[in-house]
Amino acid sequence: MDHCPMCRGKEFWVSVYGKVICEKCHPPADESIVARRIHSERPEQLAHPDQHAHRHVA
Ligand SMILES: [Zn+2]
Repeated sequence: MDHCPMCRGKEFWVSVYGKVICEKCHPPADESIVARRIHSERPEQLAHPDQHAHRHVA
């Protein structure tokens, strides 16, 4: 998903349930249900540099 089909926004957040939701159309009711945010200006891998450590392919 590169932009929201409703508002064409490019800012999303991912809920703790794994759903990607538009920040403009459906802002999170509570920060505690936000697993991470997806902003096209800021690549998400910078926010989670440790994520790649879990990918050990033998
Ligand atoms: Zn939207």
